Amino acid sequence: MHQPHMALLSSPGLGHLIPVIELGKLLSVHFNFKVTILAVTSQSSEAESHILKSAISNINSCDILEIPPADLSGLLEDEAAIVERLCVVMRETKGAVRSALCNMASPPSVLIVDIFGYECMSIAEEFRMLKYIFVASNAWFFSLVLYSPILDKQVQGPFVDQQEPFQLPGCSPVRPREVVDPMLDRNTRQYQEYLGIGTAMHSGDAILLNTWEQLQHKELRSLRDENLLGGQLKVPVYAIGPSVRPPEPPRSSTMELLGWLDQQRSESVVYVSFGSGGTLSYEETFEVAWGLELSQLRFIWVVRPPHRGHADSAFFSTTTGNLASEDPSNYLPEGFTDRTRSTGKLVPQWSDQVTILRHPSVGGFLSHCGWSSALESITNGVPMICWPLYAEQRMNATLLAEELGVGVRPKVLPAEKVMGREEIARMLGDVMKGKPNPIRDRARELKESAAMAMKRGGSSYNDLDLVANLCKATCHHLRQSF
Ligand code: UDP
Repeated sequence: MHQPHMALLSSPGLGHLIPVIELGKLLSVHFNFKVTILAVTSQSSEAESHILKSAISNINSCDILEIPPADLSGLLEDEAAIVERLCVVMRETKGAVRSALCNMASPPSVLIVDIFGYECMSIAEEFRMLKYIFVASNAWFFSLVLYSPILDKQVQGPFVDQQEPFQLPGCSPVRPREVVDPMLDRNTRQYQEYLGIGTAMHSGDAILLNTWEQLQHKELRSLRDENLLGGQLKVPVYAIGPSVRPPEPPRSSTMELLGWLDQQRSESVVYVSFGSGGTLSYEETFEVAWGLELSQLRFIWVVRPPHRGHADSAFFSTTTGNLASEDPSNYLPEGFTDRTRSTGKLVPQWSDQVTILRHPSVGGFLSHCGWSSALESITNGVPMICWPLYAEQRMNATLLAEELGVGVRPKVLPAEKVMGREEIARMLGDVMKGKPNPIRDRARELKESAAMAMKRGGSSYNDLDLVANLCKATCHHLRQSF
């Protein structure tokens, strides 16, 4: 029988590549599609190329093709912000994506793009393919993206200076200071690019979100209700998550860590990491170190040299720690490494995160709240201490702490005031304490809920089944009409 073929396109950045690969695996293994993943890479992140290489050699169910980004010289300032950079890379790489699709022996009938690759949907139109948009983040974030062109008309002056939260129909309101990065300054190219994304979301044939019904029922209902956000979107929305990685084959340094974790008490260790590209300032790095010491908890900390500019400065240049990196004692408080030698482990630059989060000794995650990290935490039943840095992480922190009850967050955003060691230690204590611990109970509940959603017959499985059936029917129809 003819096997329908799908192409999935991911933009640079691990927060995009990893969920796209997982979605590809689901479609291939459970729904019998031939899947080709087109991964546009940054070519400057060692971690990205490590994950891509490992996927190419270990994943048999999908074909994975790397697409190097186009030459961007002269198109971007050195300090161009992430969203602007991603949109320009994807726009300029459109020709290479088109060639890759043209050169495939069996042409795909469906193209799934992430939000930054939206302009490649015109290639799908040209080839009469279905075009779906996969949002690697959550439904509340997506609602804001979608509603931003309307807010742009309604709101005068800087978003962050408004007194009242922004009302998104049928969704939780968004506090002015927690808007996504491109909304922080309306006079930038990245803001215009961001509005372009919001406007383009109507032109796909469907939206796939990396969330599930029980987690974000309210936002999903709004996106589907024509009297609420659905009236504006007019495109079917499927909640197909959580699409998360299984544990990676551990590197030798991780084997050592696992041996150490085996000796610790259940749920007694905090894992500290700020995602694929997050870094802290000197002062913040110091406070985290002192906070960990004050808390007297055991920890694994993925350390990076402090930044001198922006928290997202490593986004396109993350290393894996295999190369010699700066000795952490150069930027940690004097004596910290000696005093914590038996209670903590420092991992330079990069960890096998899912493998660590899955270990039963890990009981909390001090996280920057990137959506993949949040989902990896939830699906392992690990509660979070939220330290949002950039992108949509401020909204994610609010969602996790205030709405889902699976984490704690600082009173003042870290970008506005450096979080002090006492507050860090207090938050760590709140999440790591023994019973009663409602935050941990909630993490366990959500772990169950996520597993139920992904099981055959669960809400996300059913949504993906609907997507798969639609795609198969369209593929069949298209083949007959040629
Ligand atoms: N990650 C990892 N090891 C690290 C840091 C990050 O494996 O040391 C992975 C993490 O498991 C997640 C992804 O990188 O899958 C980061 O995505 P997320 O959305 O959390 O944040 P981003 O890096 O996009 O800000």
